[in-house]
Amino acid sequence: MSIYTPDSQEVLTLFNQVLNGPARIKELPHFADFDEELGSQILEEAAKFIANVISPLNAIGDSLGCSYQSGEVKTPPGFASAYKEFWQSGWASLSADTEHGGQGLPLALEFIVYEWLSGANHGWTMAPGLLHGAYETLKHHGSQNLIDQYLEKIATGEWLATMCITEAHAGSDLGLLQTKAHKEEDGQTYSISGTKIFISGGEHDLSENIVHLVLARLNDAPKGTKGLSLFLVPKFYEDGTRSAVHCERIEEKMGIHGSPTCVMRFEDAKGWLIGEENKGLNAMFLMMNAARLHVALQGIGLLDAAVQKSTSYAQERKQFRAPKPQSLISKEPNQNTSSIIEHPQIKKIIDKNACQVKAFRLLAYQTALMLDTAKHHPDETTRIKAQQWSNVVTPILKASCTQNAFDGISECLQVFGGHGYVSEWGIEQHLRDSRIAMIYEGTNEIQAIDLMTRKVLPDQGLALKGILDDLLKDIQGTQSSVVLQKMYSQIKETTQICIQMSTEPDGLYRLNWIMQEYLRLLTIALLGWSCALLNERGNSTDSNSMGDSNPWRIFQKWMRPDFEKYLQIIHEELS
Ligand SMILES: Cc1cc2nc3c(=O)[nH]c(=O)nc-3n(C[C@H](O)[C@H](O)[C@H](O)COP(=O)(O)OP(=O)(O)OC[C@H]3O[C@@H](n4cnc5c(N)ncnc54)[C@H](O)[C@@H]3O)c2cc1C
Repeated sequence: MSIYTPDSQEVLTLFNQVLNGPARIKELPHFADFDEELGSQILEEAAKFIANVISPLNAIGDSLGCSYQSGEVKTPPGFASAYKEFWQSGWASLSADTEHGGQGLPLALEFIVYEWLSGANHGWTMAPGLLHGAYETLKHHGSQNLIDQYLEKIATGEWLATMCITEAHAGSDLGLLQTKAHKEEDGQTYSISGTKIFISGGEHDLSENIVHLVLARLNDAPKGTKGLSLFLVPKFYEDGTRSAVHCERIEEKMGIHGSPTCVMRFEDAKGWLIGEENKGLNAMFLMMNAARLHVALQGIGLLDAAVQKSTSYAQERKQFRAPKPQSLISKEPNQNTSSIIEHPQIKKIIDKNACQVKAFRLLAYQTALMLDTAKHHPDETTRIKAQQWSNVVTPILKASCTQNAFDGISECLQVFGGHGYVSEWGIEQHLRDSRIAMIYEGTNEIQAIDLMTRKVLPDQGLALKGILDDLLKDIQGTQSSVVLQKMYSQIKETTQICIQMSTEPDGLYRLNWIMQEYLRLLTIALLGWSCALLNERGNSTDSNSMGDSNPWRIFQKWMRPDFEKYLQIIHEELS
């Protein structure tokens, strides 16, 4: 079985050349010392570490999984030592501030590293995947005491963190959460009681301590999400005593066997408030947004791994003699059999999915650049615009990177024929692993609702319009700009129809029928920008007899037709 090796050269071309990433980062005074060489060195080292240490544990993590005994959880062999090497080498703390023990580097580098880690070993990466969000949440909402005690341990990854939200009866609908919190007489601490399910990394042997961030409801709190508060409850307190947080069992599941999915019982466990009482969801949203983007990166990484595997398999595997154009038949010696990559139907799968990986990568790295801009740019208007990009694009990326990954990996599995369905080549593991990404961190249905009702309708589509106008400026004067201009005008018109519809008595009900299609429409519009940019600034080659690796043509042939389909569905539903 081949193991995933990140293609650092390709990613560096995308980031340095197509997105002009290093120069854009250097413009931010906070990163004035950053340059292309530094970024490239770090990413090349990360690629080596991931290929040598994390990738080889992927299959064993899947086949042996985690084990549970009397409240203790053991991760698969090799996971704990790899984690120790990971955080001690500073990979967990890339973007955390130096004053908290971090490396103080741009978020874009962290995005790239986590995308590669997910492609290499999704199960293992679940553990550190929540660190960034926990760090941001604690940094922005934690009391000075909590910051002093916990922030550095989380920033460096020495202690892992969890996100304890879901309960048996409350998944997407957080307003139904029932875990109770009670303020103690000392006026400082709270006791937390309740059972959380599906908690990733709720218990394990990867780090000495585990910091749980828990949503719970105070006794006199209002009903619904306005009555939720956020608490920090560690596995071990400062004096070494263990808290009353118990792992009752771990779930048997379809994929990510290397990640323990735990049922956690809080039995009057002592904890501390993060932020203000009844404002817990507001604080938790920092963690949830970071996690949503992280899940989008999982989709990209896993699709890249599947493309890598299916490409090398298709080059080796020989079946039939491939059909060729007349012009080539006379020039080539007579072959009995061809590699299956020469069969157009197989080449199409690989070309399309390789192009999707690149196009989604551009969107994800662009989002990382926008998040750094939103935080560090000296000009307020620029900061606001960058934040608007992140707000609008996050649900689109979460839903579409994961949906397209699952569909694309399934196509890549097809390249292997029956050999893809059996476990030997590892492609079926990617398919099983990738399925969860469409479900957790807000299902893809919830992302579509978030996009329409929280990101588009409230400002009458203004932020979206600004984003589309800016994207067009990037590709002004190119052959693709005419096509994208028309598509973006159609999106603006459709958005106006949705806004108008939302004011009618049954408006929101009717909009619910087309929210998925609307999200897909915007996805294709964004992919169009990526493919146009790849065409102009990337190293794309022209079409040849072996297929088509020209991103813009791939977009036109195999992505854009869906735009017309979704547009038609939306207009028919809303007319
Ligand atoms: C492996 C794994 C790891 C997880 N890790 C964590 C974790 O670390 N922390 C944590 O707190 N949780 C975690 N979860 C829980 C996960 O976030 C939830 O499963 C998810 O939010 C969905 O909740 P649910 O399963 O209760 O489904 P439900 O909310 O019951 O939804 C069922 C279906 O109905 C749809 N639906 C619900 N409401 C609407 C609506 N308004 N409109 C349209 N469709 C709707 C959903 O999209 C879904 O398709 C994990 C789950 C798994 C399986």
